[in-house]
Amino acid sequence: FGFKTVPEHMKESLVRGVFSNVASSYDIMNDAMSLGIHRLWKDHLMRSMAPMPGAKLIDVAGGTGDIAQRFLSYQDNNSDKTSSVHMVDINPEMLAEGEKRFAGSKWVQDGRIGFTVGNAENLEFIDDGSFDFYTIAFGIRNCTHPERVVQEAYRVLKPGGRFMCLEFSRVENPVLAAAYDLHSFYVIPKLGELIANDRESYEYLVESIRRFPAQSEFAQIIRNAGFTTIGKGYENLTFGTVAIHSGYKF
Ligand code: SAM
Repeated sequence: FGFKTVPEHMKESLVRGVFSNVASSYDIMNDAMSLGIHRLWKDHLMRSMAPMPGAKLIDVAGGTGDIAQRFLSYQDNNSDKTSSVHMVDINPEMLAEGEKRFAGSKWVQDGRIGFTVGNAENLEFIDDGSFDFYTIAFGIRNCTHPERVVQEAYRVLKPGGRFMCLEFSRVENPVLAAAYDLHSFYVIPKLGELIANDRESYEYLVESIRRFPAQSEFAQIIRNAGFTTIGKGYENLTFGTVAIHSGYKF
């Protein structure tokens, strides 16, 4: 399995290929791999965001739109009809799945959701200081230079804006870590083979999780970009299987 030896400049096109392969089966695979728990993690992200009425969100690596959907529903439940979300994804097929999901919805009719194909590392089509919130869920570990992603997040946020990243992280408890390894190295590639007929893409996903910096290391990357973190800057969910990192642009 050769992704480890791929030169850095080829990573982007490889990631593009992986997500083109998995786009149509992405949602069902997410449920299968995480036993549906990814829904709870995303719900938790939204509750801890607790956006104010009229909030403007940029959801980067937005894929099939799970975060955008939750954000707009959350605001609807609070009788807010003015907040909006701009989804960005490098992969047109993934973004097309997102557009399909919202097609014909009142949110599209009201101009409260937009879609742009673009790279998280270079959001040149977005002006400085445009958004109240920036989210990236299960996307940053696929980027070649995570530190550039965080710098761009800082640029596009308004003063007072908040960066939030939901990402797979490190399970520290050794017993749970062993169980998690088993799941990662045997169950996930097998599910990829059975459901998506694509073992390789899911092996890549597992490897990308292993290679992403641990919680405290990533928190430091966020601070280095200029963000202020509260406390240690992250919250572990499900024993550290995933973490929410957060920082404010003050
Ligand atoms: N945020 C969605 C969710 O939580 O369901 C989608 C997550 S999916 C695992 C990762 C997404 O990141 C894919 O849609 C992929 O195309 C996108 N992606 C990968 N590299 C990217 C980059 N450099 N810039 C923007 N999007 C990227």
